[in-house]
Amino acid sequence: MICCICKVEEIKGMGNNPEPVKSMTGRFGNRCCDFCNYSVVLPARMASASAEIADKAESVAKELEKVTNQRDNLVAMVRNVLADFVEIIKVEKQSLAVQDSERHQGWLEAMSCAVSTIETNFEHCYEKINKEND
Ligand SMILES: [Zn+2]
Repeated sequence: MICCICKVEEIKGMGNNPEPVKSMTGRFGNRCCDFCNYSVVLPARMASASAEIADKAESVAKELEKVTNQRDNLVAMVRNVLADFVEIIKVEKQSLAVQDSERHQGWLEAMSCAVSTIETNFEHCYEKINKEND
């Protein structure tokens, strides 16, 4: 049998599967010689495998970007909620300062303290998560 790729080499024994360069389903079953196998067929298989890997890597990168954007949006939402909370506390504090109520004042101090603790912890945890992901 003659090699289906170079059409020169006489194949001794079983020969090699020529896919993806040539279909195996020729008239008598296509086979290729060792030289064509190593110089043409195997590089073609590696190229198609690398293209597949590159495609997969690209889709993983896209997914990662999506997740990263979602995370950034969530972080921005949490920061906005905290900022709104701080603003509400400030406004309440001002209006109650006018009424000069010590009981309310104490409660507002506690709330301010809680908010700044939440903010500090949030930024601390966020930094920690970012470091772990690097
Ligand atoms: Zn050949």
